[in-house]
Amino acid sequence: MSGVIVSGVDKSFGSTRVLRDVSLTIGAGEFVSLVGPSGCGKTTLMRIIAGLERLDRGSIEIGDRTVTGIRAAERDVAMVFQNYALYPHLTVQQNISVPLVFRRLSALERIAGLGRLVPGTSERRADILTSVNTAADVLGLAALLQRKPAQLSGGQRQRVALARAIVREPKAFLMDEPLSNLDASLRVQTRKEIVEIHRRVGASTLYVTHDQSEAMSMSDRVAVMMDGELLQVATPEEIYSNPLDLRVATFIGSPRINTLAAVAGEDGQVRVGGAAFGLLSAHRGAITLCVRPEDVAIERTGLSCRVEHAEFMGDCVLVHARVETSGDQIILRSTAASRGALTSGTPLAIGLELTRAHAFDAGGKRVNVVLDRAAPGQMRRVSHG
Ligand code: ATP
Repeated sequence: MSGVIVSGVDKSFGSTRVLRDVSLTIGAGEFVSLVGPSGCGKTTLMRIIAGLERLDRGSIEIGDRTVTGIRAAERDVAMVFQNYALYPHLTVQQNISVPLVFRRLSALERIAGLGRLVPGTSERRADILTSVNTAADVLGLAALLQRKPAQLSGGQRQRVALARAIVREPKAFLMDEPLSNLDASLRVQTRKEIVEIHRRVGASTLYVTHDQSEAMSMSDRVAVMMDGELLQVATPEEIYSNPLDLRVATFIGSPRINTLAAVAGEDGQVRVGGAAFGLLSAHRGAITLCVRPEDVAIERTGLSCRVEHAEFMGDCVLVHARVETSGDQIILRSTAASRGALTSGTPLAIGLELTRAHAFDAGGKRVNVVLDRAAPGQMRRVSHG
């Protein structure tokens, strides 16, 4: 059984096109994160999948059933939002049971006292309680079942919202920034919990976030969206090590990937600030050369830079330097002990791990670069000149 299939979805609000031909498959039991900057269309896509928003073009399938024209309540998906939307006057146990009470009991059966007169109601209520207690156990809420939301921490409230979603046993979970109301340490803790819950429950999950580290650390696959367009959908490793678009390269990774303005001449040689350093491009003209901070090192000879600022991070120093010839900013990691020697204005020679460099054309699309085999000794940590 497949999970969720989004095919060719377009959506505009008035004259603003918010989603452009979006196609995305979330396999059975797969955890996919949808990540992108604020306003790129993530919530709109999620609402369209849930049935809370109409699409202009395209289709949605959930669990092998086309649900494009079907009401939200009949789509069998559970949504978890950043606002937990718990009922303040109900206990944790009652909050978790709400979806089951509405699904399994008739209007008459739901009326306290009267409902008991309907045959089978007590059994159905007992079943609901069992499901609620199981979900509460999964989320570590067993001891809190009789509390009201006001008596819970933010993390505990979010877990109640998750339990309420799990108890429905939906075909898919849609989570929209569920951790954004939590403080930094609770976010890290709760994201671990969400991954564990997903592993146990095994339902297809689409997780919306603008936090790339959350997406990278939690997901089977990451879908990167910008301006209503999906730029790349791949495993976190693939997205990080093989970005297909400059916007993906610069959005994913912290600290941000280094971008160097470069030109590939008629001879194919890539030059930064006029200097070639043993890299050949099939594309000619202006390119952006990208190298991750961990692929940059201080060397005896290399690209001439000047330190602008060194940030002490505890285990290392993040060095912000400027390339003298091109004026590009470059960030690299150095040992914590080197901080004293990296004062502002210090000249540095920098080597780049060219085997892991990426290049993009003026339109931001990936272009192939290869090491120049005719430049012996310049294979790694290459310096120019
Ligand atoms: P965020 O991370 O800030 O929540 P997002 O990626 O989820 O952003 P959406 O909420 O999907 O973005 O919004 C995408 C674009 O559509 C935005 O420019 C937003 O202003 C616009 N938009 C969203 N809903 C409506 C609406 N009902 N009417 C008009 N414009 C809307």
